[in-house]
Amino acid sequence: MAFKTLDDVAVAGKRVLLRADLNVPMHDGQISDLTRIERLTPTIRELSGKGAKVVVCSHFGRPKGKPVPAMSLAPVARALGLALERDVGFAPDCIGPAAADAIARMRPGDVLVLENTRFHPEEESNDPGFSARLGALADLYVNDAFSTAHRAHASTEGVAHVLPAYAGRLMQAELEALESALGAPIRPVAAVVAGAKISSKLGLLGNLVGRVELLVIGGAMANTFLAAQGRGIGRSLEEPDLHATARGILEQAAAAGCSLLLPDDAVVAPALQPGVPTQTVPIGAVPADAMILDIGPATVATIIARLRDMRTLVWNGPLGAFETAPFDAGTTALARAVAAATEAGALRSIAGGGDTVSALRHAGVLERLSYVSTAGGAFLEWMEGKSLPGVAALAA
Ligand code: ADP
Ligand code: MG
Repeated sequence: MAFKTLDDVAVAGKRVLLRADLNVPMHDGQISDLTRIERLTPTIRELSGKGAKVVVCSHFGRPKGKPVPAMSLAPVARALGLALERDVGFAPDCIGPAAADAIARMRPGDVLVLENTRFHPEEESNDPGFSARLGALADLYVNDAFSTAHRAHASTEGVAHVLPAYAGRLMQAELEALESALGAPIRPVAAVVAGAKISSKLGLLGNLVGRVELLVIGGAMANTFLAAQGRGIGRSLEEPDLHATARGILEQAAAAGCSLLLPDDAVVAPALQPGVPTQTVPIGAVPADAMILDIGPATVATIIARLRDMRTLVWNGPLGAFETAPFDAGTTALARAVAAATEAGALRSIAGGGDTVSALRHAGVLERLSYVSTAGGAFLEWMEGKSLPGVAALAA
């Protein structure tokens, strides 16, 4: 998809409304992870450096259309100032006189954060009047929030029809990485899909079987497939209602010539608890009272061997209950092999998903893959092949 970037516009002296994702994790008033803020700084530095008046807007939490003091962006604006090592202003509303007055006082290069867009119900209803009021504050719109692009809200979609719209550097990097993964990838392409539930990733599996040469299924999701094939999975987590669906996906894959790989061994335990006795068993020999909590070493070796023939990998979902040792072993081993193959130039690796990012960080490879998307829902909807409204609205 063609979209305009910061290379296509002169921003000096212009008021730029920058849609960012400042929805950072916060615990007891403290920001617990600065990743989102850090990833945003290149776009802000560039705009500011070129003499734009940078007006940042974002949602934060779920205030449900009314002001909630605990969901104010004021502390996030302070954190942004620290990350940028400069003064960052704050306006106590994202529209109206409070916003307009603060913007009127800005000089070229200044940075201002507007209060939480979701304090107004019209944000989430994508109200055209609200988009017009947001748009009236600026000359240009730059969207750097891929992670909210699956939502058609006023600040992510509506306002892109009011002002000339551009992708920020973070959005641009994300879209280019995703394009190289499933849009026009170097083939053959493999996908690893794992995690907890098939039900939440059905659309994604259906889309991938027609697009990739190899589909690896792991995690608790694989249990449903194994059970659907009549294999014993003991007391493992699974979705019995989806056996027919799982068989349908196996048939679709076969029809599309997509090779579908399921685990052939597993690490099992009586319960998902730290320090429980574990056992590695072939699929087919899972004890009736045990739970499958990770893929086994033979499966890890098979996946790594199959990936040697692949040029591109898209990965979503941990292969085991990685939060509890030793059920992180399969995911960590695969993550390190993927990182090494990427560094050797043999594989382009693109991963995303909330827990997937945690698992890759846990494995110490977050910076070693080609691209890791911190967008949860938007990344999954993109893997489903859906058009994301916030991206579509940037179409040049
Ligand atoms: P993402 O957020 O990256 O899309 P999911 O939310 O779908 O990933 O899945 C992640 C969760 O799946 C993790 O909490 C992990 O513990 C769990 N999981 C993976 N494999 C198993 C398993 N065999 N048994 C129980 N839970 C599992
Ligand atoms: Mg998750």
